[in-house]
Amino acid sequence: MMLAELKSFNRELEGKVRERTAELTIANRQLREEINERRYMQDRLNYLATHDFVTRLHNRNALEAYVSELLARIQMQEINASFLLIDIDRFRLINESCGCIAGDELLRQFSDSIAGLLTRSDFFARLGGDRFAVVTHCNNGDKGLALAQNILKHLEQFSFQWEDRQFKLAASIATVPLTRIMVSYDQVMLAADEVIFVAKCEARGGIFSYEEAAKRSNLHKENINWASRLVDALHNQLFRAYFQMIEFLPAGAGIAQPQYRLEVLMRLWDAPHQRMISPGEFIGPAERLHLIPELDKWIVGYTLNLFAQHPQLLERLDMVSINLSAISIREPQFAQFIFNSFTTYNLPANKFCFEITETQAIVNVDSARQFMQTLRELGCHFALDDFGSGFASYAYLHQLAFDTIKIDGIFVRDMDTDPAHYAMVKSIAEMAVSLGKEVIAEFVETAEVATQLHQLGVCWGQGYHHHRPEELNYQALEKCLLY
Ligand code: C2E
Ligand code: CA
Ligand code: CA
Repeated sequence: MMLAELKSFNRELEGKVRERTAELTIANRQLREEINERRYMQDRLNYLATHDFVTRLHNRNALEAYVSELLARIQMQEINASFLLIDIDRFRLINESCGCIAGDELLRQFSDSIAGLLTRSDFFARLGGDRFAVVTHCNNGDKGLALAQNILKHLEQFSFQWEDRQFKLAASIATVPLTRIMVSYDQVMLAADEVIFVAKCEARGGIFSYEEAAKRSNLHKENINWASRLVDALHNQLFRAYFQMIEFLPAGAGIAQPQYRLEVLMRLWDAPHQRMISPGEFIGPAERLHLIPELDKWIVGYTLNLFAQHPQLLERLDMVSINLSAISIREPQFAQFIFNSFTTYNLPANKFCFEITETQAIVNVDSARQFMQTLRELGCHFALDDFGSGFASYAYLHQLAFDTIKIDGIFVRDMDTDPAHYAMVKSIAEMAVSLGKEVIAEFVETAEVATQLHQLGVCWGQGYHHHRPEELNYQALEKCLLY
């Protein structure tokens, strides 16, 4: 009896174990399926994030990651590689005349046929639009060039058929050697862009190397050099902040200086020649290459950071002026960047003034107004720089709410000997008073000029007579801000 009971109990138990095992197997399988599905989704997402939808080639993100990693290795190892930027000529013509389905088909056929010329170690990507890039590893420097020639030769035979129409293709190819002087993806792209630009100016279709483009065009040679130099300087922290004190002119006549003011000026450290490059040399190229917002962000960040660390120095100042390019303030996010910086560093925005020069770039008055409005709400001040030399200065004064006018130094410097310049300074000073604006005169190089300015009612002067620009740091400021 006992034995029978025990057997039935055992059977029951075995049955339950089997049931449970079956359940677990199912759960396990479901779990595996789920994991596989997630893995698949993850792979799919990764794939989508790094590939181009139309051609299935790598996309710009993947190219940037690849080039950045390669450049880092090039810094440490002996690696020879070339970057090819391929720009299809007349792609827009086909896209616009046959429609974007034809355009997409052309891009697919084009990329498939180029892919056939590459080896497994080459990295092929579409940058968007009609631009492609290849990174090729080479034992000798000419492989990049040879590959570019091969691609062009191949394209001569390639034709694109759409309905009853046939199109021949041509391309411009820029080759840029990836060497140790290239430190970032941006630098490589800037160089390649410049080379393509030169190529397109010269002729349609063809191969241009970085060195050749530099030789052909002086202007662009300059740009190519500046492109790498400026990007390199941003990466390697070669920019420096200088400052020049702005003097309270009545102080010269015995009236106590209320507080101190200064203007921040940028410099670029040229390590090979052990000298500082002045902004007169690099601001223009930086504006042309659209790098100026990065430079302006750098100087704003540097200055705010310094005063956040030494708030007692800022207490002794009533205004710190920073120059901004009209190109920077056109950028929609630029005001937000400055806004956020004041919050991050927790500094009083009403002690800061932004000097903007009247240039062609201010043409978009609306965006300048928007920029000024956003920061004015924080308490920032604005100065119209180099007043008098630009013919639209007066118009801007009416259209934009500047607090201060800075008279261009070319009128100030010799106002004591040139009656026309004296008259100019006098009229600007009178106009400023009637408009209720403050005036600063720059290039005050002598005591005579300082006295004349004071007599004309100009309260602030800046120039070599008072202070020569020097590096902006705690020690230098401490020395200048003595009561
Ligand atoms: P600016 O804003 O008109 O600055 C005054 C320039 O005159 C400075 O040249 C200064 O060193 C120089 N200067 C000062 N006192 C005298 C003087 O008594 N006589 C003479 N002949 N010159 C004097 P710097 O530093 O070379 O700057 C040149 C220009 O570059 C600036 O002109 C400004 O437009 C631009 N700049 C400078 N720093 C920055 C910056 O951080 N961002 C932007 N966007 N532009 C900047
Ligand atoms: Ca200025
Ligand atoms: Ca000036």
